Amino acid sequence: MGILEVKGVNKRFGGLQALGDVNLSVQENSVHAIIGPNGAGKSTLLNCLVGKLIPDSGSVMFDGQSVLGRKPHEINQMGISRVFQTPEIFADLSVLENVLIPCFARRDGAFRMHAYETVANERELRDMALHMLEDVNMHDKRRMLAGSLSRGDKRRLEMAMCLVQSPRLLLLDEPTAGMARADTNNTIDLLKEIHAKHDITMCIIEHDMNVVFSLAQRITVLAQGTPLVEDVPDRIKGHPKVREAYLGE
Ligand code: ADP
Ligand code: MG
Repeated sequence: MGILEVKGVNKRFGGLQALGDVNLSVQENSVHAIIGPNGAGKSTLLNCLVGKLIPDSGSVMFDGQSVLGRKPHEINQMGISRVFQTPEIFADLSVLENVLIPCFARRDGAFRMHAYETVANERELRDMALHMLEDVNMHDKRRMLAGSLSRGDKRRLEMAMCLVQSPRLLLLDEPTAGMARADTNNTIDLLKEIHAKHDITMCIIEHDMNVVFSLAQRITVLAQGTPLVEDVPDRIKGHPKVREAYLGE
C-alpha cells in the first residue's frame, strides 16, 4: 500500500473526459513523477488530490483515509501540501516574515494565532522559521523583501513555507516552469536536498525530462487522462508507448 492510493478516478468537464479511470500508487518517502503532454490531465489529477476538484467517481486515499469530500485546508491538515506553478508568497513582507506565517498553520497544531502571546513562543517560532531558512539556503536573505527575490529564490522561500508545516506529501506542479537552466538545476538540487533531509514523499508534475529523470524513482505517464505506463525511469525512457504519446514519435 502506498501513502497515496488513487483508484478509478474519473473527472469530466462537460463533454470532455479530463481523467478516465486513473489509478496511482505513491510509495511513502519516494519521489514519484507524473508526466504527459499538455492537456493530459496532470493538473486536474493534482486538483483532485488537494480538494480543489471533486472527482465524479473513484477514490483517493491518503495514509488510509479518504480525502474526498474534505475541504482543501482539511486535506492540508492531513499532511498534503502543494507547491504552486507560480510561487505564492507575500511580496511586501520579508523572507523571514513569509516563513513565520505558515508556522501558525502547522499540521501538528503546535501553534495557533495565540502563539505570539508569550516571548518564549515567539522565540520558538522565530527559531523554527530561521532553521527552515537555513535548510533551503535562504538564511542570508532573511531580511530581504520576498518580492525582490530571483525566481529560483522565490521557489526556495515557497518550499520553506511549505516544509515548516511538516507535510508528509508534497505535491509539485511543474516546479521549474519558466525557469532558466541555472535556476532549474538549482531547484533540482534543492528538491534532492529536501528529500534527503526530511521524511517526505514527493509527487512531481513536470514536463522537463531532465528534472524528472534526475529526481524520480517512479514515473507515471498520463495521456488523454489515462495512465499509459508506470515504471522506473530507465524503463520509461525507452518505452515505445511513451515515445509515441509523449515525444510524438
Ligand atoms: P495538464 O495539466 O496535463 O496540461 P489539465 O489537467 O490542465 O492538463 O487539463 C486536462 C484537460 O481538461 C484539458 O483538455 C483542459 O483544457 C481541460 N480542463 C482543465 N480544467 C478545466 C476546467 N476547469 N474546465 C474545463 N476544462 C478544463
Ligand atoms: Mg498542468
